[in-house]
Amino acid sequence: MDTIENLTQLTNSYYLRGWTPATSSNFSIRNNRDVVQITRSGRHKGRLNPQDFMRLKHTGEAIDEGKPSAETGLHLMLYQYDTEIKAVLHTHSPKATVLSMIEKSDSIEFTDYEILKAFPGVAGHETTLSLPVYDNSQDIPALVKQIEPILPQLQIPGFLIRGHGIYTWGNSLADADRHLEALEYLLECEIIRRQIK
Ligand SMILES: [Zn+2]
Repeated sequence: MDTIENLTQLTNSYYLRGWTPATSSNFSIRNNRDVVQITRSGRHKGRLNPQDFMRLKHTGEAIDEGKPSAETGLHLMLYQYDTEIKAVLHTHSPKATVLSMIEKSDSIEFTDYEILKAFPGVAGHETTLSLPVYDNSQDIPALVKQIEPILPQLQIPGFLIRGHGIYTWGNSLADADRHLEALEYLLECEIIRRQIK
C-alpha cells in the first residue's frame, strides 16, 4: 500500500523541481475505499512530513482535527468517481501556469509525442490526446460541477486550471507520479515547440 512517507518523498522532489512553490499545491492518497489522507491547508510543500496530512472520509467528513486543503473537493470528486483511484496530485509549476494562460481554447492537444505512452491505454505515439483547461475559480463546488460530467471522456487522467496548475491521478501513487512527470514534460515540450514555431 502507498504510504504518506512514499508520498512526501515524491512531493519534496517536486518542490526541488519547481513544481510546488511555497504553500501552493496539494496531494492525497486513499488508504482504503473510504479513507483519504490529504495535505492540511497552508503547509509549505517543500517540507512536508506525515503530520502535514489529515484523514477524511471519501465523502468529506473529517476524521482528524484540522483544516484540509482548500481544494479538497476536487480530490474527493475523483475518489468518488472511481473507486480504483488511489492518489491525486496537484502542482503549480510555471509551465502549467503559463501555458494554460497562453492557450485561449478549452484544451491543449499533444500530438505524436513518444511519452504519450505513459498514459493508460496508449499503445503508440501516433496519436493526439487532449488535456482540458478550465478557467480558474476559487469556487471549488462550481469547478466540481463543471469537471465531474467530463471525467468519463478524458483521454489523459488529468486537467489544467488556467493560470493555476495541473491535477492528475492514478490507481497507485506510482501511476499518479508517472502521469504527473509526463504531463510536466509535455507542457515543457509544448512551450518550446510554440516558441520555435
Ligand atoms: Zn492549487
